[in-house]
Amino acid sequence: MDEYWVNNNADTNPHNDHEVHKEGCPVMPNDKIPLGFYNDCESAVQKAREYYLRVDGCIRCIPECHTS
Ligand SMILES: [Zn+2]
Repeated sequence: MDEYWVNNNADTNPHNDHEVHKEGCPVMPNDKIPLGFYNDCESAVQKAREYYLRVDGCIRCIPECHTS
């Protein structure tokens, strides 16, 4: 399992989403909420939706969960 976080800052991507990142991401933000450990990024994105409406996966660390 990997640990995931959601970025508190939505100004860092063109669609103003709160992006979910996996541990080891090269562009990991500093201002973020820990989501916990998950087997897949879909579960982490679902958890992030408890905090923010506009959520997307980081294209760098979880491209399989990046939609826009
Ligand atoms: Zn990332």
